[in-house]
Amino acid sequence: MIAFYGAAPCLSKPLHVLVPLLIVLTTLAGCTQTNSSRMTEADSDTTTAAVSSNALSQTGARASEEGVTMPLDRDVSLLEMSTPPVGLSAQSSGAFIREVVADSTGSSVENLDARVDSLLSRMTLEEKVGQMMQLELGMATDAEPFPQPINSEKLRRIVQDYHVGSILNVVNAAFTTEHWHEVLTAVQDEARQTRLGIPVLYGIDAVHGANYTQEAVLFPQNQGLAATWNVALAEESGVITARDVRASGIPWNFSPVLDVGRDPRWPRLYETFGEDAHLTSAMGLALQRGMQGTDLSDPAHVAAAAKHFIGYSGSESGRDRTPARISNIELREQYLRPFQDAVDAGVASIMVNSGEVNGVPVHASRYLLTEVLREELGFDGVVVTDWLDIKKLVSLHEVAPNERQATKMAIEAGIDMSMVPSDVSFFEHLVALVEDGEVTEARIDASVRRILRLKFALGLFEDPLPGLDLADEVGNERDRRVALQAAQESVTLLRNTDALLPLSPDQNVLVTGPTAHSMQSLNNGWTYTWQGGGRAQELFHDGRPTLMEAMREHAGADQVQYVPGATLTAPDQLREAVAAATESDVAVVAVGEGAYAETAGNLPHSLMLPVAQRRLIREIAATGTPVVLVMIQGRPRTLGDAHEEAQAMVTAYNPGTEGGQALADVLYGTVNPSGHLPYTYPSRPTGYALYDHKPSERLSADFADSGAEPLFPFGHGESYTTFAYRDLQVDTPEAALDSLNAGHTVDVRVTVENTGSRTGQDVVQLYLRDEVASVTPAARKLKRFTKVELAPGASETLTFTLRAEDFRLIGRSGTPVLEPGAFRLQVDTLEAPFSVTEQVPVTP
Ligand code: BGC
Repeated sequence: MIAFYGAAPCLSKPLHVLVPLLIVLTTLAGCTQTNSSRMTEADSDTTTAAVSSNALSQTGARASEEGVTMPLDRDVSLLEMSTPPVGLSAQSSGAFIREVVADSTGSSVENLDARVDSLLSRMTLEEKVGQMMQLELGMATDAEPFPQPINSEKLRRIVQDYHVGSILNVVNAAFTTEHWHEVLTAVQDEARQTRLGIPVLYGIDAVHGANYTQEAVLFPQNQGLAATWNVALAEESGVITARDVRASGIPWNFSPVLDVGRDPRWPRLYETFGEDAHLTSAMGLALQRGMQGTDLSDPAHVAAAAKHFIGYSGSESGRDRTPARISNIELREQYLRPFQDAVDAGVASIMVNSGEVNGVPVHASRYLLTEVLREELGFDGVVVTDWLDIKKLVSLHEVAPNERQATKMAIEAGIDMSMVPSDVSFFEHLVALVEDGEVTEARIDASVRRILRLKFALGLFEDPLPGLDLADEVGNERDRRVALQAAQESVTLLRNTDALLPLSPDQNVLVTGPTAHSMQSLNNGWTYTWQGGGRAQELFHDGRPTLMEAMREHAGADQVQYVPGATLTAPDQLREAVAAATESDVAVVAVGEGAYAETAGNLPHSLMLPVAQRRLIREIAATGTPVVLVMIQGRPRTLGDAHEEAQAMVTAYNPGTEGGQALADVLYGTVNPSGHLPYTYPSRPTGYALYDHKPSERLSADFADSGAEPLFPFGHGESYTTFAYRDLQVDTPEAALDSLNAGHTVDVRVTVENTGSRTGQDVVQLYLRDEVASVTPAARKLKRFTKVELAPGASETLTFTLRAEDFRLIGRSGTPVLEPGAFRLQVDTLEAPFSVTEQVPVTP
């Protein structure tokens, strides 16, 4: 078992500093997805994605309820990341199920095991192998019309003849809760009629809200959630997502994404919590806690699936599902920690990385799936493959000559369930492998036991459709306000020369650019459809504005003129936009990307923003009208010199359906921005260095124009007020190695003051720098953070408590070590020295 080596996640922060929610109202929108037909809608450079012509009636906007202030600060436990102390890690999932079973049914884990064993002893080989098979819903529906109706003969076949254990996804696009109920009722009714009546475990990708349920609210994609640095908000988004997913009859969610987004080119960057393992861990745990709650059988909670174990985001090329070469040290220092914390906190399941790490596809890696995940991390929950990934051992990775061998390889590596997903080949191969003596039935039993345990823990045997009565709550006004707050807190002010922002409603404003009037850019992929295109466009609810529409709501249509200026890749009324700029007081130029998901989002050329968009910025700026550059995008596209033309710069990531309003609220100053970058914003498309770069990546005077210097650093974010820090103090200047290892803690204090003239929120970030180490040390590492709200003139002294694990690094042997030597603690520009000594210091 790996000793816990990371920082105990964030906040030693008193409750009252957390911001109460101010909320506004309006209507609500709904959402959904597609997946079964995985056509590429996106031409990622990029992709406003073609809109399908299939009409689908929109679910109506909901009546607003009374405004309430949502007490996100209601419980300090929301803010305390539950990272266990050293050595207390890993019975995790077992421990979690023990707890939930005792809570929910009053029975003990022994009773649960007895139920599982009793059921298992009555199952035939075929029934067992069927439990390990996951099929897509299209295997049980007709192809047309939308929403694809259940085909009872197809359903009967996969449930009765093939004993399917799990079904996933939607066909084509998001369903209404009513349709979900029809689907889930048909599926579970069919399962009830099987010999043993084992319920089907339905799974879905609800990755920014219940994005495949039409009525649900949509939150920012994870990169935006991370930019809030507000763990309570992340947890609340998890609570709402879980409730909406269960209200659709679905008990299993393929979230959170715990891939650490260390390459801005990677097309799934927007699904990550950014480039830092500590921030990823803190936000991921909060989301997981919100989704799973403390009782999986609670009809408002779901089983989470942390994904994609491991190293998926580290591909060398920056393209999806291409090789990652990650040293053992790097893997453990940068990628393992969030998974370890998720396991320690009892995540119910884990999905495997589709790619290869160091020449071995992870689905074929016994080292990663069994030795690391099971034995070191102590994970005892369900391991599910990703889409098609056993087949890909043959077709993509070429490590198996045929699918039968691939199946054997993945089973030997340690998977429990195969997301096949569109035929029953896995079933046939695995039954044959057991019958021929190539896989033991005991190995099958181990996986089926884990799958059945999860089904019992979720209460599916008692009620396979829990949560359906929650449908009326989906998309309620309070949820919309939480999503709006998340979007508002994610918006990040990067630059504000001469206080150009906030705008005044009296100013004549030109709004231009390809993302100014695009719900798809606000939401990106996994929004009603897999790619966020096609039928998705028809499902955005009336009433939720784009940026341009929201600005008109703020200042009136007369004050806000809109000219597209450019599509994502070509000029579009550029001359008209320039003419309009000359007559305006300010130009808001909204650039960025369209919608894409996974491989379809690979960059065809480079990270550089397409030339048509950079030209738009330049030509508007050439009129002399001040430019506010707004970026709505799934990854930090580089701007070349074009950024120099902008007096103000704001990035909104993919803020979700409330994003238009959230952005306009920030631009007009009704909301004071508080987002901070969860990743480094590079200045050039190549040669960038992340915030925790190695010493040799430091910008040297000789290579001053190397491009390694970021445009904006990780953690950067401005406000309409100003904050100052003072009195950074460590309670002891040094501590002995042995006493730290024995549990001695180090308190670090700092005072932050609002020195400006309006109330605002700041994110206080504590970093640690190791001066000399046996493995080249990072420039600095984030160790703690907290978000604090302060009135003008108010100050607050924060205390962060560090432990031995905060000072450890992954040593040359690949295990965590605490090395004596000098460290520096940093908050903003303040620094305090600290030493780890080999001997107990002699006090005079
Ligand atoms: C993605 C997963 C997703 C799965 C099911 C895969 O292509 O990589 O993140 O959970 O599809 O939709």
